[in-house]
Amino acid sequence: MADKPVFFVSGTAANLNVASANGPQPGLTPIHVALALACKQTPVFAATRTRSLTDCYGAILREDVIAAVNVPSVDNSAMDGYALRLDDIAAMPDTGPLSIPVGGVSLAGHPFEGNIPVGRAIRIATGAAIPAGGDAVIIQENVTVNADESEIRIERDAVNRLRRGDNIRRAGEDVKAGTVVLAAGKRLRPQDVAVAAGQGKDSLVVTQPLRVAVFSTGDELAVPGGALPPGGIYDSNRFAMIGMMRAIGCEVTDLGLLRDDFDVLQTALGDAAQNHDVILTSGGVSVGKADLLKPVVDSIGEIHAWKLAIKPGKPLMRGKIGNCLVLGLPGNPVSVMVSGLLFAVPLLLHMMGARGEDCTAVRFNVPAGFALKRGTGRREWLRARLHRNGNGELVALPFRSSSSGVLSSMVWAEGLIELAEDRASVGQGDLVEYIPFAGLQAF
Ligand code: AMP
Ligand code: MG
Repeated sequence: MADKPVFFVSGTAANLNVASANGPQPGLTPIHVALALACKQTPVFAATRTRSLTDCYGAILREDVIAAVNVPSVDNSAMDGYALRLDDIAAMPDTGPLSIPVGGVSLAGHPFEGNIPVGRAIRIATGAAIPAGGDAVIIQENVTVNADESEIRIERDAVNRLRRGDNIRRAGEDVKAGTVVLAAGKRLRPQDVAVAAGQGKDSLVVTQPLRVAVFSTGDELAVPGGALPPGGIYDSNRFAMIGMMRAIGCEVTDLGLLRDDFDVLQTALGDAAQNHDVILTSGGVSVGKADLLKPVVDSIGEIHAWKLAIKPGKPLMRGKIGNCLVLGLPGNPVSVMVSGLLFAVPLLLHMMGARGEDCTAVRFNVPAGFALKRGTGRREWLRARLHRNGNGELVALPFRSSSSGVLSSMVWAEGLIELAEDRASVGQGDLVEYIPFAGLQAF
């Protein structure tokens, strides 16, 4: 489960064959290969802690939760009505309506004690325990009650429709005692936490939040809130990275903005590695003179991977300083988000002990509402939206520009279209894979 490498990105053997003419570009690693290797080389984080239920939302469960009790704990009524003994009814006249005296009441939290007296019905409320001997509940809408509620009358057609078990919720029908209700590795949603509460648990063992240090690099960058020098740009990447990390439950240290200076970067990374589990950076991982991340990590740690066959986001560094994982995302704002969402986030979720399903983007096929031709060799994500065309069909539309610098494309988009390494063209109406943002873990 959590410790197995998982393939997060779909693909066929054909389009992932490095040797094939239309495979990944030489020297670039397909993202699913890089991610599977990264998962294999990155141990699941051992530290767990017991947290009270209301602090567990979004956390990764690290224990199996075994049901201690049946839910419901006893057979109970699904409706307001009258509990009956069908054997009694079988012994009554078989023509005409039946009149049955009411022998008691069973309310939620106040059960009727003892057996249903022979020949009687018990008034019963939704959720109340079925009294001993009861085999069916007839809903109150299907009976007529006399003025002092001492007797009910059931018309013949309603009698004929009565079946054993009608409107009865059986003990253990929802959850059977002894079964695993939540498996270790689950990323806890509100309903998961609620099921644990339904078992009487008030706390769960979950992964301790990863301590993630985040910073941006680049001499052209200015800190939001400060002045913008001529030709400068505000640092936006840090805010995308912090948001993605927080969304998956990490404890983020914002280390701000660092200059493109070897010594500055070496000191900052070396210090951050002392007391963080992960360092996440943006910029400085290309091959220009100011791209210092790789030599800096090389000087105080090790580089494991470099350059993926993806667009946007090709330069992506994975390394280690001591026990601290270092992920160097590229500088272009869309690249930061795409490689963050599709590589950094799944890798960190794996580290937190999440199951494969909970690290995997939800995707489905949608007809393209566009046509394009493109160079093969890299898996590509287009910022996209679903749109209902003139025929009422749902189609995927890409943003007007595919530039990795256009962050507003991510604001416009509601998802991504994924094109495999070997896909050279898309025709109108051809199926494309669509990943809704809501199907990614950091939204
Ligand atoms: P780099 O990978 O450092 O060469 O950065 C590529 C481009 O991304 C730069 O030219 C900037 O325009 C842009 N960029 C880099 N870092 C950031 C950032 N933190 N916020 C916004 N844009 C950035
Ligand atoms: Mg730079």
